[in-house]
Amino acid sequence: EVSIQINNKSYIFKKLIYHNKLLLLSENYSEIIMEQNKIIYNNRQSNLPNYNSLEKYVNSSSNKQKSSLILFSIKNIKDIITTNNITNYKLIMAIKKQLNKSANKDDKLLFHLKRGLFAIVIKNRHIYEEQTKFIDDYLNELKASLLKDINLSFEFIVGVINVDQNVLSENILLKNIIDTVLNVAYKYDGNKIIFYDNKLKVDLIASETIKKDLEKGIKNKEFVMYLQPIYNLDTNKVVKYEALLRWNNEKYINTSPLTYIKIAEEYKLIYELGFLIIEETTKLAAKINDKDVTITINVSPKELGNLGFANKLLSEISKNNILPSKIGIEITETSLIEATPNALDNINKIRSKGINIYLDDFGTGYSSLINLRDFPVDYIKIDRSFVSNMECNVIDEKITASLIALAHSLNLKVIAEGVETKEQSDKLKSMGCQLIQGYYFSKPLPFEELFKKN
Ligand code: C2E
Ligand code: CA
Ligand code: CA
Repeated sequence: EVSIQINNKSYIFKKLIYHNKLLLLSENYSEIIMEQNKIIYNNRQSNLPNYNSLEKYVNSSSNKQKSSLILFSIKNIKDIITTNNITNYKLIMAIKKQLNKSANKDDKLLFHLKRGLFAIVIKNRHIYEEQTKFIDDYLNELKASLLKDINLSFEFIVGVINVDQNVLSENILLKNIIDTVLNVAYKYDGNKIIFYDNKLKVDLIASETIKKDLEKGIKNKEFVMYLQPIYNLDTNKVVKYEALLRWNNEKYINTSPLTYIKIAEEYKLIYELGFLIIEETTKLAAKINDKDVTITINVSPKELGNLGFANKLLSEISKNNILPSKIGIEITETSLIEATPNALDNINKIRSKGINIYLDDFGTGYSSLINLRDFPVDYIKIDRSFVSNMECNVIDEKITASLIALAHSLNLKVIAEGVETKEQSDKLKSMGCQLIQGYYFSKPLPFEELFKKN
């Protein structure tokens, strides 16, 4: 803070930039502190205590032993809040009012953590039955009053954290505990109250470890791309490679990339990791002289929605002096159907430069076959679950055959994944599928190994 003179009077000036505005100017220092605390510890919209207050409350030693924290998140908040401010105001009033009506209300505190997410702290912990009863009663009455007052029906996602020494010991941020509980609760779509228990705690600690290792691994560039050949059955030649991520770290070399990609996404490390993947893969592509061979890169929905994705890919392509057509990207149906405007911009931008789009794991997602026509896609990759079931399941065989026929009728090219036997390969060929990938031909291998052999 600084003291400045205005009209011969000394003002203590506290600089606090908030939403690009300089907020506070006052003669009175304690007034400034009060204002500042208001901003730090209260939700601007509702004036209710916010996450910082909650963290402070939970961490104060007298509260560590006994309180329990009930989280409730409004599932359809986006539809509700975007409509108007009055609705939002009424919602918050109803939530406050309902709590005031509850028995032993002095035993309870209400927090507003973020849009649509509230927490009630019960100071003296209840037993399990009392907790669930309180939650059911509170939310049911809240729902009824909201329906009556603003004629909207609300759905809630609920989690409970019983706060004690044990919960707060391992250096885990309360915020991460909250996220974990809510993530699980979201998976149950609000049909179950999720308690933060030992299993969740063990999972969370494991994720935190992987997260820390990922940060180090990204910094030290411990990631390499293995390549799995894709064969053209008509010419018996390798025409493409799929780049698959491997973590060159003895702890993780055998861990499926899915495990740590999920964590990289949760902790927002996926963007940096994705950029490394692009750098490594384009470097490998530059080492393959055959101009007709393409390497495909897997891109998760989060990466695809990142504003800088297309530019990064295109700049690495030009840095390595390769044709854009040497690179393809694999995305899932979910990516496409839930694509944000940024994701679509990215797709259109790279596709217009000649980078093909491969629809991965086809048949497992939304399977909105009819929509295929409208999607900016060049290839589909039939998921390996169809291929592996073909032999013992006539229906899967028929589905596979019709997927191939459908794709061809829409002028899309087809790759079959996970081909492990000669029988599968022959059958797919007879169905008109020329492009095959799977252990029958080759596992994913490091670049050096592949090109030593060939
Ligand atoms: P995916 O894109 O469907 O990749 C194919 C997976 O199937 C690979 O597993 C591959 O090793 C495996 N596979 C290939 N042929 C066969 C076969 O004949 N039989 C069987 N049983 N499996 C086969 P991997 O490498 O463990 O990768 C798992 C998933 O991790 C990938 O599934 C993809 O979703 C993700 N992933 C891998 N690398 C990357 C990456 O660089 N970026 C992103 N975002 N995701 C990646
Ligand atoms: Ca893939
Ligand atoms: Ca796949």
